[in-house]
Amino acid sequence: SMANDTIFGRMLRGEIACNEVYSDQHCLAFRDIQPQAPVHVLVIPRKPLESLRAANEEDTELLGHLLLVAARVAKLEGLDDFRTVINTGAEAGQTVFHLHVHVFGGRPLAWPPG
Ligand code: AMP
Repeated sequence: SMANDTIFGRMLRGEIACNEVYSDQHCLAFRDIQPQAPVHVLVIPRKPLESLRAANEEDTELLGHLLLVAARVAKLEGLDDFRTVINTGAEAGQTVFHLHVHVFGGRPLAWPPG
């Protein structure tokens, strides 16, 4: 899959460093290099899915796990309230084509987003 070739794929293979906050058999969570809030963490599957639109029935458990890890990371970071975001496709703001869940918090977050 092309998702192997992204910067996140390189992090998963240990080729480049990341600021890790959580890791397990199925996913990795690390701090965003350009944080948009006091807490801004990305949770990514080890499986190289290019985006949410590339996921299918066999990924059901993995997708649930990513959300539970997002909530765990929020708690680890001391957040009660937080926002999770998945951008799918360039027009929706996706710039790295390896599925990732953003976890934002630590300041009031406006709604709707841009
Ligand atoms: P998106 O725009 O939804 O695809 O999100 C990609 C995110 O990855 C952006 O928030 C970037 O700041 C972040 N990012 C890009 N490169 C790195 C990196 N080397 N380490 C950590 N975060 C990164």
